[in-house]
This record gives sequence, structure tokens and C-alpha cells, in this order.
Amino acid sequence: MDRREWLHGMGIMAGAAALPGTAAAVTAARTAAAAAPEGTRPAAITLPEYEPKSMLQVHETQVDRARFPLIDIHTHISVAAKAENGVELVPERKYLGTPQELMAVMERKNIRAMVNLTGGYEKGLLDTVTKYDGAFPGRFYTFTEPSYSRFQEPNYPSLQAQAIEQAHRDGARGLKILKTLGLYLRENITSGTLVKIDDPRFDPMWDTCGQLGMPVAIHISDPAAFFTPTDRFNERYEELNNHPDWSFYGHDFPNNAELIAARNRMIGRHPRTHFIVLHVGNFSENLQNVAENLDRFPNMTVDIAARIGELGRQPRTSRKFFEKYQDRILFGTDATPHGDEFPQQVFNDKLYEIYYRFLETDDEYFDYAPAKVPPQGRWRIYGIQLPETILRKVYYENAARELKITV
Ligand SMILES: [Zn+2]
Repeated sequence: MDRREWLHGMGIMAGAAALPGTAAAVTAARTAAAAAPEGTRPAAITLPEYEPKSMLQVHETQVDRARFPLIDIHTHISVAAKAENGVELVPERKYLGTPQELMAVMERKNIRAMVNLTGGYEKGLLDTVTKYDGAFPGRFYTFTEPSYSRFQEPNYPSLQAQAIEQAHRDGARGLKILKTLGLYLRENITSGTLVKIDDPRFDPMWDTCGQLGMPVAIHISDPAAFFTPTDRFNERYEELNNHPDWSFYGHDFPNNAELIAARNRMIGRHPRTHFIVLHVGNFSENLQNVAENLDRFPNMTVDIAARIGELGRQPRTSRKFFEKYQDRILFGTDATPHGDEFPQQVFNDKLYEIYYRFLETDDEYFDYAPAKVPPQGRWRIYGIQLPETILRKVYYENAARELKITV
């Protein structure tokens, strides 16, 4: 019996080992392995213990700096000081990094500007703008967020539209919508039925953004696997096992298609408002779908934040997508200072080097995140080696146009 057959016989092939209910199988296999003569059989391991090293010897390019200065359209430098059931409830902010420490990385990596999407509202927004945009003009830009805590007030639609006008006066460059809308916000804010993305109570808010020329960076839905059972067929089993609260399977959650349909109805209703649909239009597993929506909605662009793991495992499809939609794709990372728990978005030199390598080189089979085990699924990625004209647009020009920054 070879090693593979033996592992199979013991029911502990790596994919099955960490599944709930298989602990007994693992224990049995370990006992058997321990009883075997020294050196003849490998010890059984669980899935989290499995960290295979690739034996492939291929060219590796170290890209320390982006070829052109860039704007990172998607970062989180500040977050709400208090949230409940996924809904931010106070204007006060927590700051995840000082402008000085961020600037050091920006200088090394050729990052011209960072857009802090989660700038909050009211006093929190003003503080954030003062602390970053004010301290280093042209290097930091801040977006505002809706005040969901006022959602139950009868005149919320007009209050929220006025709040956008005030945020604009206070220095906000755009509006950020977290997946709160569609997946967390409920009629009684943190309880009751879920509020839909195309709920008409938000229409004045979307229109005001359009009138003021403030783009809306919107995150709805999540990776497709988060809407399917966390079982042995789930390609993001380990990620969901590490973060069970990321699963939107079951309960009263809408599915991925319903969320995207509600978003599309909303975008279609507000043609004068620009929407930066984050995470590759929130459907990076299906670039055909993203392409159809880009064709349908001229007011839609996308960013690539936290999705090079998806783009890089379909390099030929991705390269065609970048060629065709080169004016509609913005560079973003979802970078979060000191977000060590999420290697695919921790703000550091390594993260940016991986993005540059994906966009600029034709390197093969490399990690999409600085982590021992690929955190979003056990695969590796391939570079798409974009030509300089496209790189310039994706790194800088498209974002500058949306933010109305003169190059
Ligand atoms: Zn984000």
C-alpha cells in the first residue's frame, strides 16, 4: 500500500482531516501511525498543520516599488469606535496608524495617496480629515459613511442627504458603503428585517453624492463561497472555519445573486452618481458577470482590493478583463494598518509588493498574501504583466479622475 492509499484507508486525507466530526478518524490514524514501525509511515496531520512548500523552480521578480506613483483607493485607516451586529453606531473613530508611520511605507512603495474609506461622519469625519488630509495634503483623502444610528428617524432620507452635504463641506471626497447595507442593517437598526440595498429611503443620499460629484465606494456581498455551506466542498473552508461570522449561508441572509440584483437596481436608478464597486464588483469569481454590469452601467467602475487571489488564479481571463476595461479599474488593497489577523490586507511593504508583482510581472505560482498558508483558499497566483499604458490608468489616472484630482 503506498502512502496515499494508506492515508485514504485511514480516512485522513488532508481535505477531510479538520472537518467537524472527523476528530475520531484523526485520533485513530495518529494511534495507528504511532504504532507503526519508526520511519515507515508519515504521521497523520490535520489540515491547519499542512503547510506544503512548492518545489517549483520558476523565475521570481522582486518589485519593491510600483512602476508609477499610485493611489490606493481602498484603505481603512480609521474605524468606528463602536459597532453592534455589524452596524456602526457612533461618530467617534479609532485610528489604526499615525500619518507618519503610513507615510514611511508610502514613500518606499511609491504610493502617492491613500484613500481612507472609513472616515465616519460628523465629528469623527472632521477629526479624521484634520489628522490625515490636513497634515499631509494630497497624500490622504477621506470618505464619509452614512449615520445608520439615525435610520429610524422619520425624516432620515433628507437628514442623510443633508449629512452628505455637510460631509462634503467638511472635506469628505466620497461616500463609503460597507456591506452593512444589505447584510447587517435592519429595520430597528440592529434587529428586525434586513434593509435592502435599493431601499428608497437612501435615494436622496445617492442623488446628493451625484450632485456634489462625490463617488460612492460600495461593498456589497462577499466571496461566493461565503454564501454556501461551510463544508468539505467549500473552497474557502479554512477561512470560514477561522472566521465563522463571515458566513452568510442560511438564516435570513439574501444570497449573492439577490444582493447583486438589488445593487444593480439601485445603480440603474441613479445614473448621475458614480459607483466604485469594490472588490472587483463583488463578483471576482465571475468576471463575465462584472463585465456585463460594466457594459450596462457607464456610471460603474471597480477596484481590485483583496481580490488578487481571485484575479491571479485566472490570469488569462483577468488580463483580457484589464485590457477591455482599462479605464474602469482602480488600484486598491483594503489595507488596514496592523491588521495582522488578515494577511491579505495588512498594511505593509510585502502586501504592496505582491500587488505590484501581480500587475507588472509574468511570474508564476506565487502567494497572493504574506502568510504561511494562503488565507483565502489554498491556491497561488500568476502575474498578468500589464503594459505601461494600462498600468498608469489602473495605478493612478482612473482614481484621479473619480476623485477629481488634477494629475
Ligand atoms: Zn474594505
